[in-house]
Amino acid sequence: MSLLSSLKIMLGAAPERPTAYTPEAEAMHEAKRQVKGAERAKEIKAAHAEHRSHKWRNIRWATLIAVNMVFVLSFRFDVQLVEGSLTASRVIGFHMADLNSALQVMLAYKVILINLVIGTGTVLFMWWLFGGRTFCSWTCPYHLLAEIAEKIHLFLAAKRMVVDYPLHRGARSVLYVVFALLAVISGYTVYESISPTGIVSRALIYGPGLAMIWVLGLLAYEVVFIRRMWCRYVCPIGLTYGFVGSVSPVRVKYNLENCLHEGDCRKVCLVPHVLECTKKTYAEDVEVAIGADCTRCGLCIDACPTGSLRYEIKGLNKLL
Ligand code: SF4
Ligand code: SF4
Repeated sequence: MSLLSSLKIMLGAAPERPTAYTPEAEAMHEAKRQVKGAERAKEIKAAHAEHRSHKWRNIRWATLIAVNMVFVLSFRFDVQLVEGSLTASRVIGFHMADLNSALQVMLAYKVILINLVIGTGTVLFMWWLFGGRTFCSWTCPYHLLAEIAEKIHLFLAAKRMVVDYPLHRGARSVLYVVFALLAVISGYTVYESISPTGIVSRALIYGPGLAMIWVLGLLAYEVVFIRRMWCRYVCPIGLTYGFVGSVSPVRVKYNLENCLHEGDCRKVCLVPHVLECTKKTYAEDVEVAIGADCTRCGLCIDACPTGSLRYEIKGLNKLL
């Protein structure tokens, strides 16, 4: 998939079925077409009987908690190793600023502060290196709370007590522009005052304030009405890091060969549109890099019973 298509899909366009395939992919699709329905069902059942993994989820949750605890403990014990919160901080004296927060500040105050530029540059390089939206799933404390809310939503949905009302994915792109315009017009970082990422991060470090009521309300709304509403349809931080990750060396890679196309990966994914290639006849090549909107959370890798999805470091994997 081209970079442009990946960005268009991230902004809200629907993924399309490829019109042309590489000869290797075409041959694999043809071989899979010959497999009878009953035989395929048997293969899927056998693969599932042997597979159960939460490896990447556990590593990721441990990392997310550890990163946030560094901020908390540093403040509580006045270590001054890390000062501030995830929005803006100083790490061993180096200024760090979340990209979206920095953008909001510059738009609101119409100034380019040198510390902000240094902090933003450092963070930009770091998250480019780690994969862009890796920030969301490996660091953002709201992401972890929203994952728990999602589990409750899915549990209640299985009992037919709640129903998901999905929105158009393009809503996030529209809101991105709205938040930017609000900052320019009001001279105030409007998004920062409602961002659950900043609110939860500050609540962990300095203790919860009234703003946590807003976060709890959001989580309750996600449980009852819209699965992962904030991360899927609202958060401009995710979109900003999505752009960064579009050219990142760390990504998830799909291999067509052993895929059963039953879609377990898509069921667990926050952004299932990036896994469209896992549908039968949707992969244009044998290997497909997963698109910019992917948070590199690893849930699909854990879920896949055939090892068809894996992490890749561009250019390095062949050397490792
Ligand atoms: S594609 Fe996989 S790694 Fe990426 S967001 Fe979806 S589940 Fe997570
Ligand atoms: S890549 Fe997705 S559809 Fe293919 S086998 Fe793995 S979980 Fe199933």
